[in-house]
Amino acid sequence: MSRGLWGLILSGLSMALHAAPGLDADDLAAATLLRDSALNSDVAYELLESLTTEIGPRMAGSPNDARAVAWGVEKLQSLGFKNVHTQSFEFPLWRRGPESAEILAPFPQKLAFTALGGSIGSKPAGVTAEVVEVASFAALNDFPEAALRGKIAFINNRMADSRNGAGYGAAVVARTQGASAAAKKGALALVIRSIGTSNDRVAHTGIMNYDPTLTRIPAGAISNPDADLLAHMLKRGEPVKIRVIVGAKLSGTATSHNVIGDLPGSEFPDQYVVIGGHLDSWDLGTGALDDGAGVAITMAAAAHIGKHGPRPRRTIRVILWGNEEQGIWGGKAYAESQKNNLRQHWIGAESDFGAGKIYRFSSFTKPEALADIDKIMQVLAPLGIERGGTNASGGPDLGPMKALGMAMGGLEQDGTGYFDIHHTPNDTLDKVDPEALQQNVAAYVVFAYLSAQTRSDFGFGLTPPAAPVAR
Ligand SMILES: [Zn+2]
Repeated sequence: MSRGLWGLILSGLSMALHAAPGLDADDLAAATLLRDSALNSDVAYELLESLTTEIGPRMAGSPNDARAVAWGVEKLQSLGFKNVHTQSFEFPLWRRGPESAEILAPFPQKLAFTALGGSIGSKPAGVTAEVVEVASFAALNDFPEAALRGKIAFINNRMADSRNGAGYGAAVVARTQGASAAAKKGALALVIRSIGTSNDRVAHTGIMNYDPTLTRIPAGAISNPDADLLAHMLKRGEPVKIRVIVGAKLSGTATSHNVIGDLPGSEFPDQYVVIGGHLDSWDLGTGALDDGAGVAITMAAAAHIGKHGPRPRRTIRVILWGNEEQGIWGGKAYAESQKNNLRQHWIGAESDFGAGKIYRFSSFTKPEALADIDKIMQVLAPLGIERGGTNASGGPDLGPMKALGMAMGGLEQDGTGYFDIHHTPNDTLDKVDPEALQQNVAAYVVFAYLSAQTRSDFGFGLTPPAAPVAR
């Protein structure tokens, strides 16, 4: 056999090895280099400082929301993203107005109060009535109607703090559905103990919904210390009278946008790995944790790959989601727009749980893809990340895509203390640890790079019916 023939065979063998499905040693080496250089990058912190300083609060439908969209377009372009564009959608416009709550009798005291997002306004003079304490949302449903008619309902359950935010899901129903449940029993207004863990005298806002078949009543939250105070006063057994003023308005519709930018793939530019955070925030703070951090982390991660790495095969798409807070409007609009393009969506992950370090990597893929997930895990592990479960949520804005069968990665952040800050005036830049932000960027770099580079797929239509078997 000639030398030339051996060469051919050897190079053929090497190509065959190279073309093996999944990820090879070169891919992992490239991801490792990118990971380590990302740990020294200040880009995410600079983006977050810019967003919180130059835009600040950016509630959906507000003038600042529009400025944030323009900020997103400009930053994606200047970071070198291609195909930078916006995607519009409509939603009901809610505006906050003057608001307050105070105890009038038996011992007059002011309460730290904020209206819930979506609440109707009260009359300018407010609602004045006796307050009735209810232990929880579940207890409200079992409450005797006569006890609440003409009163202000006060749901007093306190959410628990935890690393993974588990306490939130259990408690938040008081905020989202409490007003209608109270109205059903004849209550005139709803006051809840904030869905949050802060012991500061700040109230936590957040979205609520009305049952369209029931009377709509004004709704707000008081701080945890004020909920304690109110409970102490009620314990004395005398009627406690409070006044609640909600100056909010719900009128007409507004338009906002997702902001989208691509780092085009070298081989399959029309296949997407989607990462991002939501661009809107509540109006009380500057949205540093919720979700400026997610925006900054994912923009910086993709930009880092674009600037320093070999270009992966698939496109890394960054989506700065619009109006997550009031009902995942941007996430729904994107899923709707991709109906005929679903299978081009390889895998996704949203960062929307603050700026704490990532401690766990979960996945949601077809079982055959777990070999790739294990390899991604190898490169994540030195960042202090452990392997999680196989039902990664992918984040709120990718929820509609997951529901359609898209694979998800879950880079889970340590959320201890996150609900001290969530939806309060304290959601500001000083709460962000720059080093934790770098760890997040490094993890997203690894996830996005290797997901876009693999020769395998993660599966789509993860619950589709099997193709009919030929007989
Ligand atoms: Zn959020």
